[in-house]
Amino acid sequence: MCLIDDSDGTCTLLHSRQQRARLRHRCTECRRDIEPDEIYLAERTVFDGDAMSHKICAHCQRVRAYLVDHCGGWMYRGLNEDISGHHYYSTASNDAEVRAVRLLAHGMAARWRRGDGTLWPVPNSKPPNAKLTGKPGTPGFSG
Ligand SMILES: [Zn+2]
Ligand SMILES: [Zn+2]
Repeated sequence: MCLIDDSDGTCTLLHSRQQRARLRHRCTECRRDIEPDEIYLAERTVFDGDAMSHKICAHCQRVRAYLVDHCGGWMYRGLNEDISGHHYYSTASNDAEVRAVRLLAHGMAARWRRGDGTLWPVPNSKPPNAKLTGKPGTPGFSG
């Protein structure tokens, strides 16, 4: 069950750049604050004549990488719905692959913050948009 299965086309990417936040921004996927000095992905897309800007935090980029690897794509502003749906359909199993998607779903639902307000470590230390291998233990969550 993937959001991309129902999509009716692909948007055109006009601009895509990793940048360091100078001001506080809002992640367009998880809605958390991207604090000054954090690296985030700034993208601009056009679909059906409508241009949109996106700011995607480092954590949400891991969710996107997962969806690229496992589903062949993602929907802008649909990462949370998509990853939580994948979590829902896989709660019965407990293998490493399933634990990885569960952590992504839980992390995103919490906007990547722990109960004490500190930010989660970025899942998996590979560069953004690199492919996840799915090997046991690769997602780099601690605690
Ligand atoms: Zn999928
Ligand atoms: Zn985010």
